[in-house]
Amino acid sequence: MNDVRQKISALRAQFGKKLCILGHHYQTEAIIQHCDRTGDSLELARQITSIDAQYLVFCGVYFMGEAAALLTRPNQQVFLPDPHADCMMALMASGCHVHNVLCEIQAMGKDVVPIAYVNTSVGLKAQVGVFGGAVCTSANAKAVLSWALSTNKTVLFLPDKHLARNTARALGLNADDWQILRLSGDGLIDKANDLKQKRLLIWPGCCPIHSQMRVQDIQRLRAELSNCAIYVHPECPPEVVEACDGAGSTSYLIKTAEKLAKKSLPKNVVIGTESNLVERLRQRHKDRLALLPLKEAYCPDMNAITEQKLLTLLQNIQRGTAQPVTIKEAEREPAQNALQRMLTITQ
Ligand code: SF4
Repeated sequence: MNDVRQKISALRAQFGKKLCILGHHYQTEAIIQHCDRTGDSLELARQITSIDAQYLVFCGVYFMGEAAALLTRPNQQVFLPDPHADCMMALMASGCHVHNVLCEIQAMGKDVVPIAYVNTSVGLKAQVGVFGGAVCTSANAKAVLSWALSTNKTVLFLPDKHLARNTARALGLNADDWQILRLSGDGLIDKANDLKQKRLLIWPGCCPIHSQMRVQDIQRLRAELSNCAIYVHPECPPEVVEACDGAGSTSYLIKTAEKLAKKSLPKNVVIGTESNLVERLRQRHKDRLALLPLKEAYCPDMNAITEQKLLTLLQNIQRGTAQPVTIKEAEREPAQNALQRMLTITQ
C-alpha cells in the first residue's frame, strides 16, 4: 500500500463514525476504494438523509457536493476534495440566465414548468423551485418529464439537450413537439412565434464527455465484433441511443452488465459512458464478458479528485481548517423544494 493510501486509511479509522466518504461511479478505482458509499447521482442523493456522520466527504464534482449540502442536517458538513472540479454541462446554464429565460417565456403568455437535470448549480435548482418545477436524474427523467407534461404547461428541460430528446422520445414525443432554444448571452433569441405549439422547450447544453459517442463507432464495433450488444448513457446524442441495444442511467448500465455476466451472453458487451466506470465493469466481469468502451472518454473534472487531495482534505478537517460547501440562504428552500419534488414524484 502506498504512503498516501495508508495515511487515508489511518485517518478514516481515527474519524470512525464521524466521517462518511461518498464516491460517484465515475471516480477512479484509487478513490472508490476509500469510499463508504458509492452510487450514481440519484442513489447518492437518496442515501444522504440516512447518513449520521458529522463530516460527509463527497468525491465527485461541485454540484454533487451542493446537492448533498441541501439534504444534510444542520449539524453535518459536506466537503469536496477539489472544489474547483465542476461539471462542464452544469456550467452551461446559470441560475440567472435561466431566470431571465423563464420570465421571457412567461411574458409570451406561456405557463411554463422547468425540469432541471441534477447536473446543475444550486442557484439554478432554486430558480426551478421558484417556478414550481422539479429536479431529475438520468434514472428518473422519464417519470419527472411525464409529470411535467401532465400539468399541461409548457415544459422547459435543462440543461442537457440529449437527455431531453432521448427522454421525450421514450415518452412518445417527436421533433415537432420540441424546440431547442436559441440563447443570447443573458436571455432568449427565439420569439413567441418560434415557440408556438411546442410542448417541450430544451436548453442547448450537453455533456462534452457523452457527446463524443458516435454512431460510426457503433457501426464499426458491430462490424468488427460478433455477438455484440451495445448499451449507452442517455446523455449520448439521440442517434447514438437509437443505434444501440439499450440506454439508461449509470445504475442501469451497471445492472445490465451484471445480468449479462450471469448469463454469459452475449460475449462482447460495449458500454458508452465515462471510462472510469467502463474500466471498473470490465475488471469486475472479465471472467465472464469481453466488455469494451464505445469510446475512451474520461471526465477531467471527475479525474481531478486524487488520493493526495482526499488526504489533504481529511487532514484539514482534522485540523478544523477545511472549508465546507455552503448554500446561500435565499437559495436553500426553493432548491430543496425542487429536489424534494423529484423525490416525491419518483418514490
Ligand atoms: S461526465 Fe459530463 S455530466 Fe458528468 S460530471 Fe463530467 S461533464 Fe458533467
